[in-house]
Amino acid sequence: MSEIINDPQQVLENIFGYKQFRNLQKKTIDAVLRGENVLLLMPTGGGKSLCYQIPSLCLKGVCIVVSPLIALMQDQVSGLSTYGIKAATLNSSEYSRNSAIYSALRKGELDLLYVSPEKLLSEDFVSFLKTIDICLFAIDEAHCISQWGHDFRPPYRQLSDLVSLFPTVPRLALTATADKNTRTDILRLLSIDADNMFVSSFDRPNLFYDVKIKDNERKQLLTFLNDHKNEAGIVYCATKNKVDETCAFLEQNGFCAKRYHAGISYAERQKAQSFFIHAENVIMVATIAFGMGINKTNVRFVVHLDLPQNIETYYQETGRAGRDGLPSSTLLLYGARDIVLRRSFIETSSETDEEYKRLAHKKLNALLGYVETAQCRRKVLLDYFGEKYKDPCDNCDNCVSPSETYDARQDMLKFLSCVYRVREKSNISFGAGHIIDVLCGKETEKVRKFGHSTLSTFGIGKETPDYLWKTIYRQALISEFVLLEDQHSTLELTSKGKAFFKNPYEILLRKNIVKTIKQKKEKTVTENLSDPDLFRALKDLRLTIAREEDVPAFYIFSDKTLIDMANKKPYSLDEFSRVFGVGKTKLEKYGADFVLFIQEYLGQNGDS
Ligand code: ADP
Ligand code: ZN
Repeated sequence: MSEIINDPQQVLENIFGYKQFRNLQKKTIDAVLRGENVLLLMPTGGGKSLCYQIPSLCLKGVCIVVSPLIALMQDQVSGLSTYGIKAATLNSSEYSRNSAIYSALRKGELDLLYVSPEKLLSEDFVSFLKTIDICLFAIDEAHCISQWGHDFRPPYRQLSDLVSLFPTVPRLALTATADKNTRTDILRLLSIDADNMFVSSFDRPNLFYDVKIKDNERKQLLTFLNDHKNEAGIVYCATKNKVDETCAFLEQNGFCAKRYHAGISYAERQKAQSFFIHAENVIMVATIAFGMGINKTNVRFVVHLDLPQNIETYYQETGRAGRDGLPSSTLLLYGARDIVLRRSFIETSSETDEEYKRLAHKKLNALLGYVETAQCRRKVLLDYFGEKYKDPCDNCDNCVSPSETYDARQDMLKFLSCVYRVREKSNISFGAGHIIDVLCGKETEKVRKFGHSTLSTFGIGKETPDYLWKTIYRQALISEFVLLEDQHSTLELTSKGKAFFKNPYEILLRKNIVKTIKQKKEKTVTENLSDPDLFRALKDLRLTIAREEDVPAFYIFSDKTLIDMANKKPYSLDEFSRVFGVGKTKLEKYGADFVLFIQEYLGQNGDS
């Protein structure tokens, strides 16, 4: 065990090199130090880990961290070693290493031990734990305990046994996602007092939210990535096939990309994940299967090439960007097809429960409301999570380039009546493209063939531009006024569509006209850098050291530390110790290397 320092503030400064606790960190740590049980809800990147790491250094005995992510435990342990914190993880396959850990535990030499819930509650291990000093059980990803959460893990259920097995050891449950039912479950199963549920704001102010209509998807992706060269990020796709194709496409275009989905072997998946975490500037192309617990702090962007399932998954996936608090980008592309696909995913899912399907549709509709909104995205997101937010945020597409809205009621009536008329005339249904051609009065071959220029709806929509008709079509799908018949992509009027005809109401849609007055550029990490070349050079040095130590690069120093370093240009160890995120151990371990490097760099650049 490291030397016990009783004061959390001192640990924060000396070990972690941070000056101030963030919102709720101090409150949580104080409660834990008093021996209370706590449920802490904080978004990804909020700083949950410190809430058990600091008590583990202030208290006698080991802190047991329960996590479902065995593959990531070793990284966490090596990350902690860069701070001089003594942590370990038990690996069932390595007997000799495990026995060394047991011996260290007996001697009280460890600060933290990471285990899976299965291991923790195995009979032998419980008997062993009863013989040593334990200061705290930290239950990470605590939402896995609840059947209501989307990540339910049955072994997590057993964690409720901790209450009777170790009644005097405090329990700290941590999670970034928990709706009301899940919260109640966590409190009940871990016997945590409701007063000790600490909920922080879920806002992620450093994330830029951008949502765009799919136009030319690949071109849009390349344009986005060209603005994010030399950065790490995740590209989410809805299907395995698309992951494979997109990954190959990015490689052809000179990007370093890896793929991750349930269709590839466990070994390849682990390799890709580890490469993404350890190296710099890797793009991970993945399905929803990727990401839980990825604690790489410098993921600079998350792209969704397809519509996600609902707001929860979207929020969680985008949340993997910018854990270090630096400006990071998110982009979601979607089109009419996505809406139809997502609906059919729900209908054809193996889940037979009608209530489940109803809920899934409701959640999807909330997401559709989000993607189509003209309001501040952040406001809509936080509203969904029950948090009041005073817009504008000035860090989403709608705030940065606001679009006008208009009442599309008349246009919707024209659109629906055209769907009706072409069907009536020709006795078959047609696709959206043809409907829009008829509305705009285009004499296409199809129009001639079916004699649709004689229809009353021919040319009645000329004044409305093409892109707006596409918006109206998407809205017709979202409102379920029309149904897209999958096989031939043709449209049918629904009973809801007919009802709208009888009682039309206001439909506010975005006109994609950008008011340029307020246009601001998306924030970037490097905009506050006086010397971007030095920052890049420091990143290279960080990677070299990380490879030698076999730890992920961001564990050596975060991007935020490197930026501060590149700006402060510390010329001595004393100056170096004042850089953000430099604690005692890191100063001793890496200070000399970095200071020497900076001295040489400045010497070469005639800057000294
Ligand atoms: P979470 O587990 O909530 O997703 P982490 O514990 O990984 O978040 O913290 C995210 C990042 O913020 C890490 O780089 C961490 O070192 C940093 N961090 C945490 N607390 C503070 C603080 N009080 N001041 C500065 N940085 C902090
Ligand atoms: Zn906004």
